[in-house]
Formats: sequence, C-alpha cells, structure tokens
Amino acid sequence: AGDRVPALTARALHATYGGFKALDGVDLHVPPARITAVVGPNGAGKSTLFHCLAGTLHATQGDIHYGDRNITHLPAHTRTRLGIARTFQQLAVFPSLTVAENVRVGAEQGHITDPTAVARALRLLGLTPLSNTPAADLPTGTLRRVELARALAGSPRVLLLDEPAAGLDTAEITALARVLKALAADGTALLVVEHDLDLVADLADVVHVMTAGRVIASGPPDHVLDTLGAQETPV
Ligand code: ADP
Ligand code: MG
Repeated sequence: AGDRVPALTARALHATYGGFKALDGVDLHVPPARITAVVGPNGAGKSTLFHCLAGTLHATQGDIHYGDRNITHLPAHTRTRLGIARTFQQLAVFPSLTVAENVRVGAEQGHITDPTAVARALRLLGLTPLSNTPAADLPTGTLRRVELARALAGSPRVLLLDEPAAGLDTAEITALARVLKALAADGTALLVVEHDLDLVADLADVVHVMTAGRVIASGPPDHVLDTLGAQETPV
C-alpha cells in the first residue's frame, strides 16, 4: 500500500486487426483497491482490450490514462516500469529457468526494485519449496502461480490478469481468489478477464460485459451476472 495507486482509465478505445474492428469504443475504469472483471463470449475483444492496456497492441483511437498521465503511446516495458504488470492467457514462463529465476525476471522488469520482493512473491503463491525446480517440470496450475508471482515480484500497482483460473482445479482457484483479494485489500488495482463466472461473482467489485468489441453492461456481479443468466448468453 503506502503511496496512492493511480487508476487506469481507458476512453473510447478502438483497435483493429487488418480491417477487422476488434474494439469498437471501449470505456473502462480500473480503480485502486478493487477487483474489476471483464467477461464475455469468445471473440468479444477481452484479450484485445487487455493488450491495449498492457501496451502490446496500440489502439487506433482513444486514450489510456494512468492517474494523470497519458500512457496511450508508451511501450509495454515502460508501462511495466510505471507499475502496470500483467500475466498472459497463453502462459509465458521460461521453461529452462527455475521457478525462482522466472520470478526474478519479473522483479528486474518491474516498478520497484525491492530485494525482498522475489521471496515475498514466492511465499505468497506457495512456491518457496519449488524455488529451484525447473519450470519445464511443473503442471499448468503451478505455472499459473509462477506467472502471477513473476508479475508480483515487480511490486505492481495495477495488475492485469487474462484468464488466471484457466487450467486450475477447484482448490487452486480457491487459493487464487484468496491471493487476489489480499492484493486488492492492500491497494492494488486489479483487472481480471475471466471465463469462470463463479469466480467472477466471488471476486469482482464491478463486472463489465463485452461483446463484439463493446461493453454492453456494467455493474456489481449479482446484478450483471443475473442479467446474463436470464438471457442465457453464452459466456
Ligand atoms: P476474447 O479474448 O474476448 O476471446 P480477442 O480479443 O482475442 O477476444 O479477439 C477479438 C476478435 O479479434 C476475435 O474476432 C478474434 O478472432 C480477432 N483477433 C484476435 N487476435 C487477432 C489477430 N492477431 N489477428 C486477427 N484477428 C484477431
Ligand atoms: Mg481472450
């Protein structure tokens, strides 16, 4: 916690792949100390929104602010330095490195260089006993934790998670939810793109529903997810 965490705000974001409009004017606010969720069917543009926020894809229109600062044109690594960390839907762990080495990469790329951050991230994700295990030897659920620990090792103030529960079992999802709630309680701004609506209902303060590159509904999970259920929208 400590210093104030700036909010991440997107306004009227548009993004295209070739001629295809993947984002068609998205507004999104990701405030500190809250868990904000984005749900929606496959192809809705959730990952595209995520790439625009992280800086791996540049929006064709619209802007992104981090506190007072316009970060729309900043490259991904600069956003990471400013405190915006992410994980990947397709895992991006280095298989030849050990768990601790993977997490150290995150510390080096991150917002604050804190020598205790690697050990703290490993402990928070229950990875301390696996510190010296090569990532190649580990199952998906554990690799998701390595990926999250790597993002946390840079002491981020905004954390972007694309489908963090994909491939996890029930016990792992429960443990993940506990970690994410603790991070939000500590002041971190979290954005979670997630298919698991039970997890979203448990975690999120606000849910945004996307379809066809737009946000079509926003609100607290009990309200928004009930609306979805009533329409039997596949999510
Ligand atoms: P979601 O994460 O909600 O499933 P995406 O953001 O991945 O959706 O994709 C949104 C739309 O953009 C989809 O129609 C998808 O096929 C298309 N798309 C995504 N990535 C690319 C790409 N690299 N090139 C072309 N089209 C893409
Ligand atoms: Mg996606």
